Parts: sequence; structure tokens; C-alpha cells
Amino acid sequence: MVRQIDIGRVRNVGLMAHIDAGKTTVTERILFFTGKSHKMGEVHDGQATMDWMVQEQERGITITSAATTTYWRDHRINIIDTPGHVDFTAEVERSLRVLDGTIMLFCAVGGVQPQARTVWRQAEKYRVPRIAFVNKMDRIGADFEGVVAAVRKELGANAVPVVIPIGAEAEFEGIVDLIDMKAVYYPETPQGVIIKEGPIPEGLQQKALDAQAYMIERISEQDDSLTEKFINGEAPGREELVAALRKATIARAITPVLCGAAFRNKVVRRLLDAIVDYLPSPADLPPVIGTVNEDKEEIIRFPSDDPPLAAVAFKVQADNHLGKITYVRVYSGVLRAGEFVYNSNREKKQRVGLIFEMHANKRTRVDTLHAGEVGAVVGLANTFTGDTLCDEHDPIVLETIDFPAPVIGVAVTPQSRADSERLSKSLVRLAEEDPTFTVMGNEETGDVVISGMGELHLEIITDRLMREFNVNVDVGKPQVAYRETIIGSAEHEHKHVKQTGGHGQYAHMKIYIEPGESGAGLQFENKITGGRIPREYIPAIKRGIIQAMEKGPFAKFPMVDIKVILFDGSSHDVDSSEHAFRTCGTIGFRDACNKAGLQLLEPVMAVEVTAPQDYTGAITGSLCSKRGKILQMDVKEDMASLRARVPLDEMFGYASEVRTLTSGRGEFTMHFDRYEAMPHVLAEEVVEARSKK
Ligand code: GDP
Repeated sequence: MVRQIDIGRVRNVGLMAHIDAGKTTVTERILFFTGKSHKMGEVHDGQATMDWMVQEQERGITITSAATTTYWRDHRINIIDTPGHVDFTAEVERSLRVLDGTIMLFCAVGGVQPQARTVWRQAEKYRVPRIAFVNKMDRIGADFEGVVAAVRKELGANAVPVVIPIGAEAEFEGIVDLIDMKAVYYPETPQGVIIKEGPIPEGLQQKALDAQAYMIERISEQDDSLTEKFINGEAPGREELVAALRKATIARAITPVLCGAAFRNKVVRRLLDAIVDYLPSPADLPPVIGTVNEDKEEIIRFPSDDPPLAAVAFKVQADNHLGKITYVRVYSGVLRAGEFVYNSNREKKQRVGLIFEMHANKRTRVDTLHAGEVGAVVGLANTFTGDTLCDEHDPIVLETIDFPAPVIGVAVTPQSRADSERLSKSLVRLAEEDPTFTVMGNEETGDVVISGMGELHLEIITDRLMREFNVNVDVGKPQVAYRETIIGSAEHEHKHVKQTGGHGQYAHMKIYIEPGESGAGLQFENKITGGRIPREYIPAIKRGIIQAMEKGPFAKFPMVDIKVILFDGSSHDVDSSEHAFRTCGTIGFRDACNKAGLQLLEPVMAVEVTAPQDYTGAITGSLCSKRGKILQMDVKEDMASLRARVPLDEMFGYASEVRTLTSGRGEFTMHFDRYEAMPHVLAEEVVEARSKK
């Protein structure tokens, strides 16, 4: 089947929100109203269609980032699932890379909650256009205007309501649509599918006029021809207004705001209209930028079906029936089932087996994925998250997705020999799906240590191990993932010479080391001239250094952020070998680090605590006693929110501490922020504890 697709009718969108704002419910209702999901699954009875994994259903949160395709007004909407929990920021970032617009959900009572701020900033970073939906207008305390004001003030958005609510709380009946200036009601019936339209209720007429005037003024500011009309006092036409609003939203100059109550099926269809009307199609956005060859020359690819192909793999998932499935977004060209493509990151040809469109509860096989589309591919054995798929004769590497290093680990010990055999296989599969999860064997203890982005992240992984992979393990206490680095710089000469009968060993190098850029790992520079060390031995030295960095001299933690300059050395015709230079690299580098001085780095978390204002003192005290630095405090009505940076090591069990401190009225979120040097005295304690193990 040859499909014709009109790229202008594609929307790749994601919903983002603080946990509990209603992301799952809104997604559910979208799938229901677009006719792809016939049974409405409520979150509270664990039936949510998007929640694929058992754990997610139990916890009521969404973790994976799959893509679901659905249709509205002849537009194809791909909903890229973004997780709601902060431990999964990497998942959020990866989905932001491939979606073109987002729906930011806010709770009409909770307003701009901490996680909403985080995802808002992430969307900003990836320059993703946004519309906002203030959900739960039926709840007691719902305050549409308050939330809009907070979105403006706290997020700095040019938030422009395109609807205003009719009633609130139990009396929330519907909206006044400010574009068409009519009232839309959503009477509650068992199916909840009726819409009634009518004139604007008397009591709301002035408010609606004011809100419409505000909307037109804000839109006009962004559009020259509308500005002129505005100045002349002429009313813009509907089409003109919608087109200008669409343009301003895509340019990220305006965030249109709607409100509703997804749980009561209110205003979900108007939200779908807004997705189609205001959010961009892939063709509305700038072309993607990638690089070619070693010089990293930049090239761009336009969103069009014309070859060459450029696509990115953004999610790998294990599927019980299909095996490994890879979610792919095509940026240019057409991906065809059965054809070979080139994975430019791994320099490997890959065969595209089957291609599927994934729906909420079924999948459809398709032959092609066109520019701008998102779908799932079976058969890409050696393709991982972030890899670019392209035409072998016209290669391109699209920007890869950055994943933070894991900050916390736990030891897992298999309970039986059979478990032990299954364990390593299962961990490989899990690590393939999730680039922020790593597995390391501890040779000394024989344990396997799995590391990830937070306690919840690891809990879910151990849970999956037991349920999905049937591996029984004992799980140890969480451990912080420390790193080591050097404090100063040093020059060092090392000669590795051994004479043991037969061939001897000879390697000699001079290096200069200094602290490197944060996040750079090892920066290795070769300044050997005149072949003083033959070229073939240089990679051996680098490998030796990499090996030494796996376990630092301070306390055997991985080393990061070091720059090494190799500037001199010598070799021996008979006795030199790769092996000798590798050993020389390892030992010489280690000695150089000891000379430069060593320090321990610890993960520091961005923490945000929200609680009634009376508890501010207690919370500040608790954070300070944890070596925390308070960065900011905001008070809104009676609620205070404190932002701080606190070492992860101090944060275990903080959830129950916050509950105790605030009589159960406070809550907190945290996510990894950065690695920072640890005070020397504490570092010594870590080393001592480690040596006792
Ligand atoms: P998520 O964590 O953002 O995915 O939020 P959920 O969709 O799981 O919703 C959290 C809770 O809020 C659930 O108990 C929902 O039933 C409830 N909820 C969602 N939308 C609404 C709404 O419009 N009104 C009310 N009153 N509750 C809602």
C-alpha cells in the first residue's frame, strides 16, 4: 500500500505536567474522542490505555516514552508519551527532541507546581512551542485566572486565554470560546459525548468581551497587518486571527491557554482543535541540522519526502511479541520496510524489517514512514536510542540525545543459580531500552551493581526484573555514585621497563594532566612529533589511561573530567609493544593523578519543597543540616516553595522527614543537577567505609 501523506496535516505532540495534573486522563480522553480507544480506562481503576506496564498502573504514573497515533479533523496526531516523574528527566528530554509541540497541563487548583516548572524549562531548552490546558476546573478551589497569572509570572510566558470558563468547581459547565464568541456546554451524560452551543450567558458577557479584547491585542502585537487593523479599530476576521495565533504560537511568542475538566470529558475536543489549529506541523519548523564526516561539517535536511533519508531512533523497547522495537522519527526522505538503511553513529547497515503505526490498543502495519512521521520499526538489531538512520551514500549524524550519568546504584544478588543466569541477559535487555541505566559487575564482591537516576528509577527496574523477567534478586541499600577527579595539574614521566628472559618490555611517555571540562570525561591530546613514539602505540596509551580511569586511585570510583596531553616519550625496536605502552599508560597516568591531587565528586540534586508557610523555618533548617544551599523561596497565598541544592547522599529518606516536619502537608521533588567536589573530611569517610566492605 502506497500511502500519501500531507506533512502539513501531521502533529507530533507530547503532554507535559506535574504528576497528578491529569496527563494520563487527558491522553485517555483524547484517544477516546478520536475514536481509537473504545473503552475509557480510568486511572483509578488501573485501566489506562497508555500505561503499558504493570508497575505504571499500580503507581498511576507513566514512565515509557512510546508514540501513539490517532486522528482528528483529518490530521494525524502522534502523541509522544512523556513521563511525569522527575527521575525520568532523560525520558522527557528525549521525547522533546522528537516532538514538535507540547500541551502543558496545569491543575486548576495546584497551579504551577515544581515539576511543571522543570518541564517548562526543558521545553524552552529545545525550543518547543506550547499550548496550555488548565485541567480539573471541576475541583474545589479551581482558579483559572490565578493559574494564568502564575503561568505568566512564574514561567514568564505570554499566556493568552483563548477560552474562559463558564462556572467553576461543581458548577463548571463549559467555556466561552473567545475566537467564535459563543458558549460551549458539555452536559454530563454517561457517555459524556454531547456538546451544546449557545450565546454567551448574560453574566459573562463583559468578561468575555474583555478577555477577547486582550487576546486580540496580544495576537495583533505579533502580526503587522493585524497591528494596523488594531490601530484603525477594525476587527480582524476569524481566519486571520487563527492564522496569526498559530504563527505566534509556533514562534513561541504566545502560549494559548484553554481550560477544562478531562475527567468529566469537558473541553477535550476543543483542546484537540487547538492542537490542530495552533501547534506546528513538521513542515512549520526549521530544518534539522546534522554533521558529516570527521570535520563535523554541518548540513541541514528539510522536512520533505525527497531523499536522502534522515531519521532518529528515540526509543528502544522490548516487546513480548515482536522482540526489539525501535521508535523512529523521520526528518527527511522516506523509510521503507524491507530496505537497508545506514546507522551513521555505529557505521553499520541495518535492515528495516516491519514498520508499525502504534495505536492505543492495536498496531497497524505500514510500508513507509514519511518525513515528519513517527512510528515503530522491527528489525534494527544494532540501533540504539539517539542513533541516526540515513542513506549510506549521503550520510548525516543528527545531534545525539544527551543522557546524564547515573547518580545512584544498588547491588542486586541473584537468589539461585538459575536466577544468576537469567540476570545478566535481562539486564542487558533493560539497559538497551534505557540509556540512563547502567550495569556493572563488582569483581571484589561478585555483586552486580545497577545504577540509575533515582531511587524510584531503580525500584522500577528491580520490579521489572522480578515480574517480567522472572529473576529473583536481593536488593541492597542504595549507594551514591561518586566520581573522582584531579584537583590541580601535573607533569609526569613514566618508563615501563621489564627484562624477563626472552623479550623484554619497554615503553616510555611524558604526559601533562589538568582538570578538564565538566562532563567531558577524558580529553586526550597527542602532541608527539617526529615519531618518538610510533603512531601505532598511541591508541594503546589512551586505552591504558581509559582503563585507569575506570577505577580512580582515590577510592576506586570512576574518574571524570581530565585532560591529558601526551608530549614526549621513546620506544625500543624489539621490546616495545602495544601491551607495554598500555601498561605504561595505566601506571603512568595513575601516578600523575596522585601528583596532581585527587578529590571526590558527589551528585548534587535540585530539590524543591512545597509546604504551608508556617513550616518554612523547619524546612530551611532541615535542608541546611543536610549541607543544602537554599537558592530561592517563593510564597504564594499561604504556600511556600523552597528551592535548594542538596547532595544526594543526604537525601535518603527525605520523603518521610518532610512528612514529619510538616505534619503531612509538605511535598518535595528532586532531580539530578550536577556533580560537585565533596568536602575532604567527608570524602575520607566515604573512602574508609568503602575499604571496610
Ligand atoms: P497524571 O499523573 O498527570 O497522569 O494524572 P492522572 O491522569 O493520573 O490524574 C491524577 C488524578 O486526577 C486521577 O485520580 C484522576 O482521576 C484525577 N483527574 C484527572 N483529571 C481530572 C479532572 O478534570 N477533574 C478532577 N476532579 N479530577 C481529575
